[in-house]
Amino acid sequence: MTSSVKNKYHAQWIGVDLDGTLAYYDHYRGDNHVGAPTPLVSSVRQWVQDGLDVRIFTARKPHPAIRRWCKEHLGKVLPITSTKDSGMIAFLDDRAIGIRHNTGKPYSESNVKDLL
Ligand SMILES: [Mg+2]
Repeated sequence: MTSSVKNKYHAQWIGVDLDGTLAYYDHYRGDNHVGAPTPLVSSVRQWVQDGLDVRIFTARKPHPAIRRWCKEHLGKVLPITSTKDSGMIAFLDDRAIGIRHNTGKPYSESNVKDLL
């Protein structure tokens, strides 16, 4: 499927992880707790102001604490999801390892070795 065909079905969006990516995380402190904002928050705020579709991509349930945190630190409540679709054009995450498209090879071998 070409990207132009894909886009008929899914709007393009950017997924951003919450814990350890947008918000400081050291250990689970309960569903009501979301950590302090990381410096990435300023970029996300700008993307949202620029009209990009940015979504919180998290394994957490969509707890009201996440919506409150978004409103306070991002200026608006972003969509919260744990599901990706073909419209997701980028994913920012503290655990993901970037793989070069169609190669199966990571951008950095050291990231993979760090897992072992
Ligand atoms: Mg994380």
